[in-house]
Amino acid sequence: MLDLVDLGKRSFAAYRGIAPDEQLDEALHLAERLRGVRCLHLNATPYGGGVSEILRSSVPLLNDLGLVAEWQLIRGDASFFQVTKRLHNALQGDATELSESEKAIYLAHSQLNASHLSADYDFIIVHDPQPAALPMLGGRKGAQWIWRCHIDTSRPNPQAWEFLRPFLYAYDAAVFTVEEFIPPHFPINHVAVQPPAIDPLSPKNLPLPEELARHVLEWIGVRLSRPLITQISRFDLWKDPLGVIDAYRRVRPHIPNLQLALVGSLALDDPEGWQVYRQIREATTGDNLIHVFTNLVGVGNIEVNAFQTLSNVVLQKSLREGFGLVVSEALWKGTPVVAGRAGGIPQQMPEGTGGILVDTVEECAEAVLHLLRHPQEARCLGEQGREHVRRHFLMPRLLLEHLRLLDALVHERPIEPRGLALAPHPGVSP
Ligand code: UDP
Repeated sequence: MLDLVDLGKRSFAAYRGIAPDEQLDEALHLAERLRGVRCLHLNATPYGGGVSEILRSSVPLLNDLGLVAEWQLIRGDASFFQVTKRLHNALQGDATELSESEKAIYLAHSQLNASHLSADYDFIIVHDPQPAALPMLGGRKGAQWIWRCHIDTSRPNPQAWEFLRPFLYAYDAAVFTVEEFIPPHFPINHVAVQPPAIDPLSPKNLPLPEELARHVLEWIGVRLSRPLITQISRFDLWKDPLGVIDAYRRVRPHIPNLQLALVGSLALDDPEGWQVYRQIREATTGDNLIHVFTNLVGVGNIEVNAFQTLSNVVLQKSLREGFGLVVSEALWKGTPVVAGRAGGIPQQMPEGTGGILVDTVEECAEAVLHLLRHPQEARCLGEQGREHVRRHFLMPRLLLEHLRLLDALVHERPIEPRGLALAPHPGVSP
């Protein structure tokens, strides 16, 4: 058996008054039809990135809605995660090519993980490329399989894409964050587009009293008498942390006491993180107005919440981005964002809602300076951003779209009754 992630209880009813009513009502209606359906979500890490953030909220909520949902982790050693990170980079367009021995490492781990997977589910939802080969190598185990791709695969490296593509024939459906991410010659017919979402009730996104937020940041050495800009990201070159440092140094002559915080997590499935961390350290040594924090020194959800609440501007200068939950997280706190025009970011900030989109380091520096010099405008942008997130990027909307997809797939291939309280689907004979 693969490792099961322990999860707390959540109440879907608690989102009433926060998320739009029509989303909550339709989700409740669909969940009633899907009562008892057993879903397994499968990924590679229980912490450190957007996927784990989403699953930690959505899996318990699916249970509260009456489905039977679990989250399990595939296993891998350092060599496997090195290969999957290279595959991830190549699928996002990097020139990296996988060698034959790297492909063999991927296949051997996939085969092993497939053999540990039990056959007790109606749906198995596989997140990202790390576990993608499981149904082809281990059999479909009587379930319907969904591949949920969170990364930008619009222009994949052809060699990497040709390696992954054959495994995808075993799936019944796929989900992408934006339509443009669907790669060429995609082999799965049923494709849905569902941008991710944040959980307004998680410790990371709950309203934090200002006094507490200030205490949390002062405690770790941030001086709140000085202006503060922050980027919160895995240490990954696609997130352009060195570009952020460069932009910050261009702003500083104009705002001499400006602080920069780079808050980064090191995820289980991201071995490049340490390398990037060291590059950031080298680029910032001796500059005591730049703070670098990681999850490994205890900077976790509450600290991230405090940074997103109290920063004058939040940066997300991604060069490639799946979605960038951090953008919605900051906007939800009414904080303006300066972000790279990449992947799923522009849909979170359409036509300047919430902040300023940029393409270069120079534009980034200009945008930050502008917002620091025009705090009233910055506040307005942040407030508009919060409302945009409320309508489009809170967890109930994502659950609703997830339930719509499951409902459509049950319609296409009805689930055999196993004494479950499955309500009959209209138009489907039992
Ligand atoms: N995150 C965190 N601590 C960190 C860095 C990131 O908790 O030091 C969280 C961040 O708040 C967000 C997630 O990790 O919830 C990153 O998701 P995103 O979609 O922005 O990027 P990904 O890592 O999935 O590429």
